[in-house]
Amino acid sequence: MDPVDDLFEFLRFPSISADSQFKSSVDDCADWLLARMQRAGLQGQKYATPGNPIVVARNERRLGRKTVLIYGHYDVQPPDPMELWESPPFEPVIKADKVIARGSTDNKGQILAHILGVESALKERGDLPVNLILLVEGEEEIGSPNLESFLKEHNVDWNADVVAISDTGMVGPGIPTFTYGLRGILCLEIRLRGPVADLHSGIFGGSVANPATILCRIVAQLHDGSGRIAIPGFYDRVLPLEQWERDLWTKLPFTEKSWLATTGSPRISGEKGYTFLEQVWARPTAEVNGIGSGYQGEGPKTIVPARATAKLSFRLVPDQDPSELKPRVEEFLKRQCPDSVEMKIIPQHSGKAYLVKPDSTFGKAAQKALVDTFGKPVAFIREGGSVPITQSFKDILGIDTLLLGLALPDCKAHSPNENFALANFHAGIRLNRKLLEQIAATG
Ligand SMILES: [Zn+2]
Repeated sequence: MDPVDDLFEFLRFPSISADSQFKSSVDDCADWLLARMQRAGLQGQKYATPGNPIVVARNERRLGRKTVLIYGHYDVQPPDPMELWESPPFEPVIKADKVIARGSTDNKGQILAHILGVESALKERGDLPVNLILLVEGEEEIGSPNLESFLKEHNVDWNADVVAISDTGMVGPGIPTFTYGLRGILCLEIRLRGPVADLHSGIFGGSVANPATILCRIVAQLHDGSGRIAIPGFYDRVLPLEQWERDLWTKLPFTEKSWLATTGSPRISGEKGYTFLEQVWARPTAEVNGIGSGYQGEGPKTIVPARATAKLSFRLVPDQDPSELKPRVEEFLKRQCPDSVEMKIIPQHSGKAYLVKPDSTFGKAAQKALVDTFGKPVAFIREGGSVPITQSFKDILGIDTLLLGLALPDCKAHSPNENFALANFHAGIRLNRKLLEQIAATG
């Protein structure tokens, strides 16, 4: 069977984890995946969790070989807004050498490339050079709520030397990319309450506090004039950028012009003293993700609003710890809040940042595999996003993760018309074989 036919079958399942309507499709997709792994020559099992099933497959475990855990996910983001898709999201098509479908890049195409790489090695040689554990979950897009407890409960099974994940980006077509750092995250919501209901701004205005005004003053205190976060102690554990990183990043194919073209913003802003890549990859942020209060409809409505809310997220960098920062952030916000309104802080999800040394033994093995696959020097990047599972692998299993992404900058992951370049799908199959060989060669 042509690998692309396999990919099409995989992509036809609307395995949307965010929407319980699709529960049976998610389950069918897990069954398909299990069968596909078994057909590849692996021993597989589908594990029930309180949420969606986790599929695990392995080859025969032999002493004296390295063990590699490859992680991926078979769930996908909702396809909305539907009207912006040029073809139906779960009916894959090929256009300009790209497969267009929800999940094509994130993450079905990338994880299937690994499975097919394993299958081709098994067919050719009857065995793999390493012990392999393939772990594919169905809840990555909703924050992997059951993965950590699953790893902890099955601790004995997870003895591995290193994790490999293909769920990050490449800096451009054909440029092998090694991601050695990710940011962490801390999210919360602020709720302010003033009067018991919206008040007439003529009868009462001036005598009671306006929660909207106070909320704006509070969020305006988050940064100082140079774009730094003003929360005391926020930068205590921030690792400074090393010179080799700053040097390497200036050579990457990103310019301020291209960054502005991608974002549509009038100019680069943010923390002074750092380039835009440094700001995104190695510096923490405080963002207002949403803010709301008062009347939003057409025409005037003269009130003092009763409530105001803001959703905040902080992107964190190594070695910041969200559990240590959470009370500091809350204390700071409360201190900015006058007693003329009531403040409530609702904590949301959080996760640690991640950083590995690119020149570790396994890091070097992965880089050799990348060079062999793409025939070009490796680009070393960090990414601004968060994959908290990488730190869980470190904390629970004590092992590093190699992030070998195959997503191109224009892959439209999470957006309409998501696509995966066929060249990257085939490269991913080759990369898997070379990666396992190089890891085996580390002795
Ligand atoms: Zn995703």
